[in-house]
Amino acid sequence: MSYLEMQNITKSYGANTALEPLNLSLERGELVTLLGPSGCGKTTLLRIVAGFTVPSSGQVRIEGKDLTALPPSRREMGMVFQAYSLFPNLTAEENVRFGLRVRGMAAPLREKRVDALFELIGLTEARKRFPHQLSGGQQQRIALARALAPQPRVLLLDEPLSALDARVRTGLRDEIRRVQRETQTTALFVTHDQEEALAISDRVVVMNKGRIEQIGTPEDIYRRPATPFVAEFVGTVSRLEGRILEPQRGLVEIAGHSLEVRGALGRTEGEQVRLYLRPESLSLHHLDAANTGTMLEGRITERSFLGSITRLTLTLKNSDTLTADLQGAEAEGFPLGSSAGVKISPDAPQVVGIPS
Ligand code: ADP
Ligand code: MG
Repeated sequence: MSYLEMQNITKSYGANTALEPLNLSLERGELVTLLGPSGCGKTTLLRIVAGFTVPSSGQVRIEGKDLTALPPSRREMGMVFQAYSLFPNLTAEENVRFGLRVRGMAAPLREKRVDALFELIGLTEARKRFPHQLSGGQQQRIALARALAPQPRVLLLDEPLSALDARVRTGLRDEIRRVQRETQTTALFVTHDQEEALAISDRVVVMNKGRIEQIGTPEDIYRRPATPFVAEFVGTVSRLEGRILEPQRGLVEIAGHSLEVRGALGRTEGEQVRLYLRPESLSLHHLDAANTGTMLEGRITERSFLGSITRLTLTLKNSDTLTADLQGAEAEGFPLGSSAGVKISPDAPQVVGIPS
């Protein structure tokens, strides 16, 4: 039995289905992220766990106990939202104290807890300030402290970083993760930002149109995407159109070449397919008399130097484009406009889908 379980949850608004039957479990102390485009049902699921939205069917359980009939106030969940939700007329420490007051904690104990929380988020000097005297990032740290103050059974965070600018966002992201780990709080984190999801999570749940596409560690999601949607939504991907030649051997014809692709095993001969590839799974080769005709061939049409890697775009004869990442020195051999052969690394993630 997992710590937090969502079982066969569905949600419809009239004829609109926001969530298809959905199952998800979190272990105690785990940080799990719901990742997906706007409108895919992330907030709906979070609100169902919190008790603000009643599911059309299904149950939410903690340690096996069904919470479905309990109101939000009795679920012992902490919430952090995107918009600054601090009480504007209360100071930072009054905001943090608020949740403890509501729960009737004795004053000496309560003040100890407030001290500890400000220490935890590293904002002791800002205790007496009002929200309008704090930066966006500081306000979100106070919101985090307020949510954690009563030691919630689950911490729910709905896009808590979306309103912040990029630099503050990565700093606060790491801060949330540190605090969540130190307090061993079980957390469900919502974001539409794939980089954020990969960086912060123990596991990522990729959602699309009210359905779960894949649940896995950040490495699983990135390296072994289960569906074309996951491959496209997370990280950079190149698409290659092809046709199945020999399903038994996984042979695919791409731009006049026959390539062995594990993901093509067992498909139908003659089927049109699309292959999805990560930039680091392609290697570039100089063409010479001996190897010409043995590889996919193209021309370098874009080139961006990113420091530790150089990202190259290669346009094939059939005008498909590929994105490849090369280590600094290696990339120097492939200037803009030059020709190159491409090989696909055998352990590359190889998602094969049907072109839509
Ligand atoms: P996300 O958080 O992933 O952007 P939401 O959970 O907010 O997505 O929404 C999922 C779907 O449910 C959307 O199509 C949205 O329009 C719909 N929806 C959400 N809340 C309501 C509501 N109160 N009434 C009607 N439709 C809603
Ligand atoms: Mg949302």
